[in-house]
Amino acid sequence: MASSLILETKGLCAGYGEIQVLWGVDIAVRRGEITALIGSNGAGKSTLMRVLSGLLPMSAGECFSEGRDLTGGSAAEILGHGIVHVPEGRRLFGAMSVEENLLMGAYLRRDGRAAVARDLDQVYATFPRLLERRRQAAATLSGGEQQMCAIGRGLMSAPLLLMIDELSLGLSPLLVEQLVAALRALNAKGMSILLVEQDVTTALDLCHHAFVMDMGRIVREGSGSELLADPIVRDAYLGVL
Ligand code: ATP
Repeated sequence: MASSLILETKGLCAGYGEIQVLWGVDIAVRRGEITALIGSNGAGKSTLMRVLSGLLPMSAGECFSEGRDLTGGSAAEILGHGIVHVPEGRRLFGAMSVEENLLMGAYLRRDGRAAVARDLDQVYATFPRLLERRRQAAATLSGGEQQMCAIGRGLMSAPLLLMIDELSLGLSPLLVEQLVAALRALNAKGMSILLVEQDVTTALDLCHHAFVMDMGRIVREGSGSELLADPIVRDAYLGVL
């Protein structure tokens, strides 16, 4: 029987040239859940995202999605399968309008204009700010608006799994709250999300399940509430005992 895990890694290793960063990472992401990956600076979270999206090769290990073997898949194959990466730093096409950026997310789709138009309406319903600014060049958006646009572009590819790197980086608490509410609403409609987040409280509050990464290894996992109550997590990542 095919696995219901939307993403699963086994013994994943990767790095940059001679430098190994990930050492046998095992994670499992369930369909319909928000899964968080937390850990200190340099733990390897963004590196894992890059490997999962096929931007960086793995040196050992395996990766599956619903029983399908994605090990060694190219970025295009992984995207085609429905695993979409919203990268740290957002990477929008600055000279293009918000709407053009959003439509770029749909370029691989083959399910017709009506479905794309419906999803565009959905993105604008989720992020009304983007509708107001749909003709504005992406480079002139605020940081929060850029993050909305990057997430919206990811959604436009009708993903199986949306992977978001550093949701809250550089954003005000109010904007983070708005984004968190938007992710909750998307998840309530069935979207599966894998989130890398520096703000551990926000991440653990939002997620169903989380993995803690340290020095390229998964050192703990559990539900958000279990990890929020875990003295070791509280000491290391929340600064409280
Ligand atoms: P942060 O939250 O600070 O972004 P992170 O957990 O996402 O941290 P990574 O960005 O994955 O961590 O970095 C893990 C390690 O890999 C770090 O030691 C970093 O210096 C190294 N690293 C990251 N990108 C490269 C690269 N392009 N070339 C060489 N080393 C890199």
